[in-house]
Amino acid sequence: MKKTYDAIIIGGGVIGGSILYELTKRGLRVLLLEQGRLVRGASSAAAGMIAAQTEFDADGPLFRLALQSRSIFQEKVEELQQFSKLNVGYVKSGIIKVATQAEEITRLHRMNQAHQSVGERSSWLSTVQLRSMEPNVNINAIVSALLHERDAQIIAPNWSHAYLEASRALGATILENIDIIQLSLNKNQIRGVETSVGIFSSENVILATGVNKPNDRICKQLQFDWPVFPVKGEAFSVRSADSIINHSIVASNVYLVPKSDGRIIVGATMQPNQYDFEVDTQSINTLLQRAVQLVPSIQAYEIESTWAGHRPTTPDHLPLLGELKSINGMFIANGFFRNGILMSPIAGELMAALVSKTAWNSNFDLKPFDPHRFTNQVAKGTLIP
Ligand SMILES: Cc1cc2nc3c(=O)[nH]c(=O)nc-3n(C[C@H](O)[C@H](O)[C@H](O)COP(=O)(O)OP(=O)(O)OC[C@H]3O[C@@H](n4cnc5c(N)ncnc54)[C@H](O)[C@@H]3O)c2cc1C
Repeated sequence: MKKTYDAIIIGGGVIGGSILYELTKRGLRVLLLEQGRLVRGASSAAAGMIAAQTEFDADGPLFRLALQSRSIFQEKVEELQQFSKLNVGYVKSGIIKVATQAEEITRLHRMNQAHQSVGERSSWLSTVQLRSMEPNVNINAIVSALLHERDAQIIAPNWSHAYLEASRALGATILENIDIIQLSLNKNQIRGVETSVGIFSSENVILATGVNKPNDRICKQLQFDWPVFPVKGEAFSVRSADSIINHSIVASNVYLVPKSDGRIIVGATMQPNQYDFEVDTQSINTLLQRAVQLVPSIQAYEIESTWAGHRPTTPDHLPLLGELKSINGMFIANGFFRNGILMSPIAGELMAALVSKTAWNSNFDLKPFDPHRFTNQVAKGTLIP
């Protein structure tokens, strides 16, 4: 096995995978190291919505990045399916955002205005239109509905594996069950990583570890206070032979996502700072009741599976993207919160451009995603997740 690489990525979720793919595609020799098995973190728990409009009700840097990511999804799907031979279940039927309380209508209007101001399309659905698009929806539970036609969805674990398998097919090396012991440094230049199976050398190392903080020794070497914390989410799926719903339907406290493999994913709870994987019966019951309120016929189907995952986020819920000031060649790509699947295409391209020092085809200001933006709060002890 080669021991020297152009770049080493730590973390085998969708973000590590997307960076691996983009760097490998650009002809770099890249190694990805995963501490456990691939795609067992948040990327396996995601509902897979590509909700660039549905998730954002105001303009802002992440919204702009999300739109850009969504705009390149189709081409990535084609590439990844070709190289990985995996079906990623990409469905471009749009997402319906619904208001179930009169108070939520104002927010929906604000969302619509924000999207239209940047030229994005969305359509208000009349009761007749909604009923014809979704005959099984309980019209009485919905006070307003907005269709985001360009939003889409994908099978998140397949998508994450497709990034990794496509990279492997293009020549990347991926190792699982590896313990990273410490970084190899020469003054303030990264030289590689020391692991349970030996030393791997590289002048570029990228941390894409999701909610997992690196060990204390590495944190000390990084001179970087870890501002990533988890927001635990529980979800469940039912399987139905008939298609009960045709679009993803998102309300303020529940969503239903019909997958191309016949499942409907219903999610998800939001519990900050919870690291456990327990699935609480009460949480699932609450989600089920809310789902039944919107789509009564879902109660005829048995729950097939329940799970919990941890969305990696930061105090301002924006990601951390870039090179660390303390160590040349040490990068971080983390904190994608509720949208890591949506953001994976652009995260891969952007990080590949930064690492390979090539121009990124965009006039994007990356300052809002500066990994060091919490440094002052950390120093004052006011970094509150
Ligand atoms: C219930 C739920 C629903 C969601 N729905 C959506 C959705 O519909 N759309 C969307 O876009 N996003 C969604 N998300 C968010 C999305 O899942 C995350 O933003 C995304 O998966 C984060 O990817 P990641 O690669 O950063 O982290 P992860 O997938 O957690 O991957 C990190 C990897 O790094 C590895 N690692 C950690 N530490 C080390 C170490 N020291 N050495 C080696 N490896 C290490 C871990 O084992 C893990 O495999 C959802 C999340 C949840 C929980």
